Amino acid sequence: MQEMLNYIDGKWVPSRTRRTDENRNPADRDEVVGTFQASSAEDADDAVAAAKRAYASWRLVPAPKRAEYLFKVGAILTAHKEAFARDMTREMGKVLSETRGDVQEGIDTAFLAGGEGRRLFGDTVPCELPSKAGWSERHPIGVCGLITPWNFPMAIPTWKLFPALVCGNTAVLKPASDTPLSVINLVKACEEAGIPPGVVNVVTGDGRSVGGRLVDHPDVRVISFTGSSEVGRHLAQVCGKSLKRLSLELGGKNAQIVLEDADLDLALDGVLWGAFGTAGQRCTATSRLILHRPIKQRFLEMLVERVKTLKLGNGLDESVQVGPMVSASQRESVHRYVEIGKREDGARLVHGGEFYTRGACEKGWFYTPTIFDGVTRPMRIAREEIFGPVLAVLEARDLDDAIATLNDTDYGLSSSIYTRDVNHAFRAIRDIEAGITYVNGPTIGAEVQLPFGGVKDTGNGHREASHTVLDVFTEWKSVYVDYSGRLQRAQIDTESASG
Ligand code: NAP
Repeated sequence: MQEMLNYIDGKWVPSRTRRTDENRNPADRDEVVGTFQASSAEDADDAVAAAKRAYASWRLVPAPKRAEYLFKVGAILTAHKEAFARDMTREMGKVLSETRGDVQEGIDTAFLAGGEGRRLFGDTVPCELPSKAGWSERHPIGVCGLITPWNFPMAIPTWKLFPALVCGNTAVLKPASDTPLSVINLVKACEEAGIPPGVVNVVTGDGRSVGGRLVDHPDVRVISFTGSSEVGRHLAQVCGKSLKRLSLELGGKNAQIVLEDADLDLALDGVLWGAFGTAGQRCTATSRLILHRPIKQRFLEMLVERVKTLKLGNGLDESVQVGPMVSASQRESVHRYVEIGKREDGARLVHGGEFYTRGACEKGWFYTPTIFDGVTRPMRIAREEIFGPVLAVLEARDLDDAIATLNDTDYGLSSSIYTRDVNHAFRAIRDIEAGITYVNGPTIGAEVQLPFGGVKDTGNGHREASHTVLDVFTEWKSVYVDYSGRLQRAQIDTESASG
């Protein structure tokens, strides 16, 4: 068991509170993975002060040099991939193949963001007056507060940290209290790569005190938050008052459509992975399955047969397909939704709906993969994010009805359609209201070189990943250089002159 410390100004330090909390394995509550600092707002202040000092010199390091650090971090993460994946499975439960994928996403992001060190493109445009040049360039903003959830404990922090750094900002990370170790591992990789003191800092502890302080600290210029819509809305109010830049990546209620003409076996593999991978604890998880009426009954029977075969257990066992819920409270919350579903008029529980306690699973927070049939659009289980292995099955008359059903939600993150008809596929791409649409693939599986984020209540218009994330972490500056040697007035001196 290890005691995790905060990392402030290049040093590993205990919290000023001298208190720690436990990080337990959700697959086996008897196993304490480690303890981490139960920090206070004062610790956050220390980290922000360090990040502010470091910003003065980091912003002046040429971007290609900043990128070299990220390439080193990418190599270090690659070397430690297996160990970090195992730590992640122990602290949050998802199966080893998925935690390896989580670390890999961090590696991919290191190299993608590192590549931006030699791009960070602006525009060079002609000016309307002679002997005058104009272009736009990106500038860093300052100290960034990065607040992250537990379901992608390393990937999501890297989505924020690496672009922030390559753009010349410094950062204070506040990881979810369920998964501090993965962020500590990430920060150790940054330390090993030689990133200067104060450029990257991490403070663990309670969301309201540590995260809350980052959000209202006047020296934190950007907040990048991934988490629940409830907390996101609160942060938007706080940041709105001080006009602080805020990027929000929030919840989802993603759906997969399966049309009559689809390859049903492929669609079945897709929904199993989309709905029950990570035990449904993904912002992009398939939470609704919209089945075209002619194939509905057959597909549902195929699905229930396959769900019965899913193996639950400790994610370190390579044969396990579904791990536990991250915590007791998350499992309780999922179960509350199942109880709501059971009471909704017309909904029918066709599989699961209970704690899974067989064998060694008795010691963890496991939940049986659950399917409701007969779900209709107004039901709460069709509208609210459950964030667990619970799938609501709805029926659609035709493509238009399927798309209307898919769109009938406050969220708009991911979506999927299975069809062999190219016309149906392109209509879905055009008409689905979501940040991500997959054709013949499940709702999960984003790659880092494409923008990630959603519409409607899923966020506030920003996108992570790709080059689009650079807009979160830079300010544009427009530059005009007049080399005519005389006063020239745009829009007024319209007579063209030369020289
Ligand atoms: P959460 O409760 O909102 O917590 C997210 C982070 O915010 C944690 O680090 C948490 O700290 C911190 N926090 C909590 N209250 C805060 C406050 N008042 N001020 C500042 N920080 C605060 O969400 P979660 O349960 O960890 O994550 C699940 C949610 O994240 C789901 O809704 C899911 O859809 C969403 N998510 C979205 C995306 C996306 O990209 N759209 C990706 C993944 C997850 P503590 O852990 O200490 O409470």
